[in-house]
Amino acid sequence: MADLYNNRQAFDEAAAAAHRVEEETRTVWFENEDIQAADEPYLLPLLEESFASWRKDTDEQAMFVDGLFVLLDLNNNVIGSTGTIDINQQAEAIAVARQAAATALLLEATEEENRQAAMAIPVLTRSDRRPFCVLVYVAEQQMISAQAKFMAQLSAMHFRTCFYRRFEQLFIKDLLLHQKRTEKEASRRDALFLAAKRLYDQFDVSSVLSEMLSSLEQLYPDSVAQLYLSQDHVNGDSRVKPLVFKNAAHDLVAKSFLEGKLVTEQDREGTKRLAVPMTGKQAAYGVLCLTVNASSWDDADLPAFVLLADTAGTAFENAKLYEQSNLLINELRLINELTKRLNQSLKLKEIFKFASSELLSVFDADYCCVLQLNKEQNQFVVTASNIPAMSNERFSPEYGFSGIVYRTKEPLIISDYWHTRVVNSKLMDNTGARSLIATPILVDSEVAGVIMVAHKSANFFSYDNYKLLQVMSTHIGLAITNASLHAEVRRMVITDNLTGLHARHYLNEQIQSRQRKDPLGALILVDIDHFKQINDTFGHQVGDQILVQVSNIIRSSIRQGDIAARWGGEELAVYLPGIRSDQAYRIAERIRTHVEAETLPVVTVSCGVSEWTYENEKISVESLFYRADMALYEAKNNGRNRIYVGQAN
Ligand code: GH3
Ligand code: MG
Ligand code: MG
Repeated sequence: MADLYNNRQAFDEAAAAAHRVEEETRTVWFENEDIQAADEPYLLPLLEESFASWRKDTDEQAMFVDGLFVLLDLNNNVIGSTGTIDINQQAEAIAVARQAAATALLLEATEEENRQAAMAIPVLTRSDRRPFCVLVYVAEQQMISAQAKFMAQLSAMHFRTCFYRRFEQLFIKDLLLHQKRTEKEASRRDALFLAAKRLYDQFDVSSVLSEMLSSLEQLYPDSVAQLYLSQDHVNGDSRVKPLVFKNAAHDLVAKSFLEGKLVTEQDREGTKRLAVPMTGKQAAYGVLCLTVNASSWDDADLPAFVLLADTAGTAFENAKLYEQSNLLINELRLINELTKRLNQSLKLKEIFKFASSELLSVFDADYCCVLQLNKEQNQFVVTASNIPAMSNERFSPEYGFSGIVYRTKEPLIISDYWHTRVVNSKLMDNTGARSLIATPILVDSEVAGVIMVAHKSANFFSYDNYKLLQVMSTHIGLAITNASLHAEVRRMVITDNLTGLHARHYLNEQIQSRQRKDPLGALILVDIDHFKQINDTFGHQVGDQILVQVSNIIRSSIRQGDIAARWGGEELAVYLPGIRSDQAYRIAERIRTHVEAETLPVVTVSCGVSEWTYENEKISVESLFYRADMALYEAKNNGRNRIYVGQAN
């Protein structure tokens, strides 16, 4: 018995435990939720819905044909009613129901006159059994039987079930909404993460921009994305536009850019526009603008939009910096190369030529023109150009674009000559070019020349091109300074200090080089007679002056291509290319008579002349001199102040 009893108890306990587990697992948290007193003012829609669904379940039952159900809230307001009694009776029935509900809950109230009876059943909350509404059954008195009462009570319970089902559905709806949001959020986070990754993968600015706009359109499928850039950027994408501050249509965009924050607007048609600045660490680069139908926009989408703009800003900045550093590296390479090549040459003409061809290739330009200022003649001379009609052209320093550069000492950029014809330009008119960049070549902060680079298309040169040309012109200027200094040093080396005539080694070099090209030439040696006496009588200083006087007479007696040099102490020499000895004799004679007539104190000179011709074989410079020297010796021996012509052996 005891065993049986124990077994029975154990069995019961196990069954109870199993039941508890089942209960616990089956019960969802919202099944324990309940309405609170504070919820009562907000219950109306829920009560109406529950009443409607309860009606749907019960409409066809018999007791609804005989009577009328009225649902009242705790303030006796009618929430709903049901039944088939006519409209007058309904009003009365409701009055009866109110009365029933007001006087006592769960009470039968009778309206003697109309012989209508009502029975009010409070509907109780499930947790603390507190009434939250009243269901009243109204019928003719004789219809309210014990069975009807029971049925009415059941109906009230049924209504309560309907109510709680609705109540729980609210939670489920909320839950589903929440879940949907979370899923959307997660997928957006994934998309954002991918977009950020793709953005940071881009090295060039255009790709960053396209990637960002595509990502935006993916994230917000029903929107139109546009980007307004504050800086110039050439991009084939029609969604990328320049940011124009004066344009009223851009007000939202400009505002967002200036204030550095998100700005939104919505028009009457329900179109929403959102603008957020695209900012990096160093600056704001533009504004990202999203146009979307307000109804399809959820403010929860906003953080992702702002985040994407931020990411794009940083990616854009990185790409831009990368692009700039690449440009800079290229520029430095170019300048390095240019400087190296420029320094290899010390001839101005070569420098200009090289600079011109280099500029054409660097800027991918159509035309280039390098002008050099000739100070003596006060005009610009085209020293290098790829336009045949321009070579060796000469311009006044006031003319054309070179005139502007000369006057201002500043570089200039013309984006379209056809529209901004500030001056007439032969370069532009001859070639039909439209774009131009020009810069001065400054030597000791004076304009020594002008570089002009042109292209047939309008708006061809960028600001970077313009800056680069400026840098390059500095190097070209330095190369010119070097070449000029070198030319000066060389002039000093090949010039005799006292007389200003060429030095002996230069005369030697020149005769050798002329002998390679010319068919003939003549040499005059000039020696001052009794010069030692002059020195002794008047002193060395006067001797020097005489040397200078004689040198000047020689210089003025010869032509430009002739080369006069100081051969030694008081011996001077003149080489006359392409001239025979008879003609050389006449020139020597001219020198002799002038010296005799013009020097003070008066001196005379003796001359020896020699010649060479191609037919008589080339003779060496030494033997040319030797023969002239021999002739000079004869002139001295035969009384001085005379000229002898050396004979070929
Ligand atoms: P001649 O040629 O007529 O035979 O007589 P000379 O006196 O001119 O010839 P010589 O060769 O004996 O003397 C040359 C003199 O020229 C010696 C030297 O003092 C002088 N002399 C050479 N170079 C210079 C110079 O640069 N300045 C001055 N003042 N005298 C110089
Ligand atoms: Mg002498
Ligand atoms: Mg002499």
